Amino acid sequence: MLRLLGFLLNQGVATSKDYCSPSADSLGLPAFGNQTCIGTSCTQCSTVCPTDAIAVADYPNGGNVSLDLGACIGCGMCIRECPEGTLVANKNPSVARFKREDLILSNVEKSATQDASIQPSIFAKSIACRVVSTGCSACDLEVAACGNSIFDMERYGIHVVASPRFADVLLVTGPVPKAMHDALKSCYEQMAEPRRVIAVGTCAISGGLHKGGYAEANGVEGLLPVDLFIPGCPPHPWSIIDGIRKVMSGSVGRGA
Ligand code: SF4
Ligand code: SF4
Repeated sequence: MLRLLGFLLNQGVATSKDYCSPSADSLGLPAFGNQTCIGTSCTQCSTVCPTDAIAVADYPNGGNVSLDLGACIGCGMCIRECPEGTLVANKNPSVARFKREDLILSNVEKSATQDASIQPSIFAKSIACRVVSTGCSACDLEVAACGNSIFDMERYGIHVVASPRFADVLLVTGPVPKAMHDALKSCYEQMAEPRRVIAVGTCAISGGLHKGGYAEANGVEGLLPVDLFIPGCPPHPWSIIDGIRKVMSGSVGRGA
């Protein structure tokens, strides 16, 4: 017994103390570096992008790159192909946004500030999440990782519950194919007000690679009101925890 206790004490603390700290590694999504885009004489990024997440237009003294994180699957092709270093790896996990349009970034135009219309939430102390998986399960694995000893989301008052009747927030993963539409709506209808919906991952936001396909898997928007969008394919556990905490601290336009 004493040997076991000694062994456990020598393991140290596994739980990360640095909340949502920028990663040394790429988190998959691209971001804008300091270098100027050369514009439509190049377009290598938009040519290689498999989900049409990038558009390039000419702009005085360079190019205007529109990057839709809600459509990006984090393949990294645009970063590899960009000859100028305009596109670089994103290392900041705080990528969740309340509004879909705030996921569309530009290297030359400032994004709208999302914080102006935030209203307080009653979920400030704790929140119960029901996860509905409609996709490949990579996002579900990252949601599960949020509960491990490293990320330990329970310390922030974030709990996963088995029934929608106990849930405050619905975490939707996957592209939501037509076969899941009724099941997802049924789950949402069983939740008590006030209730929130979070689209976890690019598929849930826009359908990702499945968008426009025969399965009508175009994401959760249009089916349910989405309160928060967490991009990534899949999102990092810190991105998921940070997103849920954004819902806990406030919401845009939906009040308590
Ligand atoms: S990383 Fe995203 S934006 Fe870049 S090519 Fe891949 S899917 Fe497109
Ligand atoms: S690859 Fe780089 S330089 Fe070329 S259009 Fe895209 S962002 Fe601009």
